[in-house]
Amino acid sequence: MNDSTKPVLVVGGGVIGAACAHYLVETGLKVVIIDRELFGEGCSLHNCGYVCPSHVLPLTEPGAVGATLRGMLKPNSPFSVKLRPDLRLAHWFFRFALRCNEADMLAGAKAIHPLLKSSMSLYRELMANDAFDCDWQEKGLLYVYESKENFECYSKINELLTRKFEEPATSLEGDALYDLEPALKPGLAGGWHYEGDAHLRSDMLMASWKASLLSKGVNIMENCALNGLLDISDAGVLAKTDSGEIEVSHVVMATGALSPKLANVIGWRAPIQPGKGYSLTMPRPDTCPAIPLVFPETRVAVTPFSSGYRLGSTMEFSGYDQTLNPKRVDLLRKGAERFLLEPYSEPVETTWYGWRPMTYDSVPIIGTCPGRPNITIATGHNMLGLSMAPATGKLVSELVTGETPHLAPEPYSPNRF
Ligand SMILES: Cc1cc2nc3c(=O)[nH]c(=O)nc-3n(C[C@H](O)[C@H](O)[C@H](O)COP(=O)(O)OP(=O)(O)OC[C@H]3O[C@@H](n4cnc5c(N)ncnc54)[C@H](O)[C@@H]3O)c2cc1C
Repeated sequence: MNDSTKPVLVVGGGVIGAACAHYLVETGLKVVIIDRELFGEGCSLHNCGYVCPSHVLPLTEPGAVGATLRGMLKPNSPFSVKLRPDLRLAHWFFRFALRCNEADMLAGAKAIHPLLKSSMSLYRELMANDAFDCDWQEKGLLYVYESKENFECYSKINELLTRKFEEPATSLEGDALYDLEPALKPGLAGGWHYEGDAHLRSDMLMASWKASLLSKGVNIMENCALNGLLDISDAGVLAKTDSGEIEVSHVVMATGALSPKLANVIGWRAPIQPGKGYSLTMPRPDTCPAIPLVFPETRVAVTPFSSGYRLGSTMEFSGYDQTLNPKRVDLLRKGAERFLLEPYSEPVETTWYGWRPMTYDSVPIIGTCPGRPNITIATGHNMLGLSMAPATGKLVSELVTGETPHLAPEPYSPNRF
């Protein structure tokens, strides 16, 4: 049992660390967050802002391997892999490839669905009770297709999502499509509208969440990396950080895509690869879309906020490469041009990349660190960290305090690897 006189240390001030701290402090525990950089400035900063139970199907769909290989050969593919001699990357892709079949894809979806559903309810509570200023809107999400064949083909996925996960979409063609979204170019084949999805502005969420945590007494230490963890007793851990040593009762590791870099510190390596994605944030165009849009054929996502407009996407496995590749940024503009009357505006306020923490089974890692009972892992949220954050934070808090978990934790266990 934890010594409640010592704080719980949350390592990582991304959306997952913020949510863990939020639910831990609600139980009356003292909480310290440390981040090696600034709170909220990792992958959680300028993502597309979708809170989207509709995205329940993992990347490991049948045929994903072929699509990846074809993508590697096309210079303008939104999916790219920088080939290099890297045994961990090869192992990751091998395990990913093994899971690209219907049974494993559905097993992954079954695992993440409860986190998505619970997070949606918890977000509604957070928006009502904590009054976060983050442009929260419940307008759904519209998938738009250029080709009739692709549009019609999606009906099989819709049927599957409706039958297995109760996530139905409304099919829209002709006037019905343009009545819902007049910013679309004429001549598009059709769209599928997920009315149950929501969106928010992630940079504003992180700023609001930081203010809320500070007001609840959470100590947030920035520019403070974790360098070592020493078990000092059953009920305590000595954390060695850039700002000195801190004695804590328990440690929550919410270090996102950087988690494997902490293998020496915790004695366990998270099987995560960074999946780089880009976004462009700009003022709202004059003909701004009314609702968030996804264009599956170019894999570009469009998020209109009251305070701005964002294009985002691409998935690049290039390790911890810190460059902003202009060709890949341009794919965002090109991918939106085919669908929107006014796909972008000037000036671009932020050109950004983030490393998504990608697991090969698409399922996050939440649970006790193997061999370290005083450390709980909360990472590997892939492309849906924002959408799964509140339920992850609540589950972590329940696991740390020994309360009955509101979701079965087994599918997320680090021991599954
Ligand atoms: C282009 C793009 C669009 C996306 N769109 C969406 C979307 O619409 N909806 C959605 O649900 N998800 C989306 N995602 C995914 C989502 O952004 C991520 O899943 C999520 O941000 C991961 O959160 P995190 O807290 O785990 O990681 P991060 O936000 O990266 O936070 C981890 C933190 O840990 C800190 N850290 C690491 N090592 C240490 C250390 N040694 N000591 C101290 N601190 C450390 C880092 O500095 C960082 O701040 C998108 C991602 C991208 C790239």
